[in-house]
Amino acid sequence: MKIVHRDYVLKLKSDRRAKLPIEYHANGDCIHMGKISHGCRMCYKRGGATDVVIYSGSECNLKCPVCYYPHDRVDNKEVLLKDIAADQNAFANALKDHRFQPDLISYSCEGETLLYPEVIKVYADLIKEKRPNLKVYSFLYTNGVLADKDMLDFLKECNITELRFHLSASYFSNQVIDNLILAREKDFIVTLEEPSLPENKEKLLEILPFLDKIGVAHIDMIEPRVTRFNYKYLHEKYPDGLLYQDHQWAMYDDGLVYDIMESKYKNNYKFSIIDCSSRVELKRLNITEDNPLDIESIIKSNDDIINAINNKW
Ligand code: SF4
Repeated sequence: MKIVHRDYVLKLKSDRRAKLPIEYHANGDCIHMGKISHGCRMCYKRGGATDVVIYSGSECNLKCPVCYYPHDRVDNKEVLLKDIAADQNAFANALKDHRFQPDLISYSCEGETLLYPEVIKVYADLIKEKRPNLKVYSFLYTNGVLADKDMLDFLKECNITELRFHLSASYFSNQVIDNLILAREKDFIVTLEEPSLPENKEKLLEILPFLDKIGVAHIDMIEPRVTRFNYKYLHEKYPDGLLYQDHQWAMYDDGLVYDIMESKYKNNYKFSIIDCSSRVELKRLNITEDNPLDIESIIKSNDDIINAINNKW
């Protein structure tokens, strides 16, 4: 990959955007076509006291070469269970105060969320027990392998509203596509959540009419974040790829998100599309006096990527 300045990539993106009927919100940082998921509001609200992000663990049942986390990660069960219990206690206490009105809950982790159903259940039970009338929009991210009938029934009982499927993680397997169809039949809001990888362009463009037909509501595309854990794979796969930094390091998707937007426009697909690479990471930082920019972690991420480029691990 070649390192280029962010502005060089922004110019390429701007040229593509100018040719599409794109909508801009959140001071121009939320770039989309169609009404985006309610859950996506979380990234654009500053000081979102009504948003809750629930972490469940780091393990995954797949090993995608593009995954930007360490590929052999294993939970430290003792620490994890202690942290999760502390989070749950804090949430239970917060619910006692009726001024706390969470309206968005995101279950996400560094791995596969559905490996941790017990975490989802605790939060769902707490809301049912302490605030049965609270309307919360809950969503989670999954590679879809474990989202079978029993799991989907369980998620319904836990009042999960939206499921975000990463289809390319299983190379668009029939098993996961069947699970996605079932999720639609059970009336979940279903989103396709994909790293915007040029290697999946053909498959993604080909599957769009089917996703539209079964009522997939949203497509969220994000350029692959580059870390020392996936640099080698991406560098070998995309020797001419453009690597740039905009808070975090990313590989330019060669306009894939705009190819998908163009297809929506031409074919009048109903799902919305969001360009998650348009400064969302910066929006999420939510820098305030109490929450200053974490310079140390930025320096570390720079060191990591420079070491990866120089092949020093
Ligand atoms: S499914 Fe997601 S978390 Fe799991 S290995 Fe693939 S990219 Fe990483």
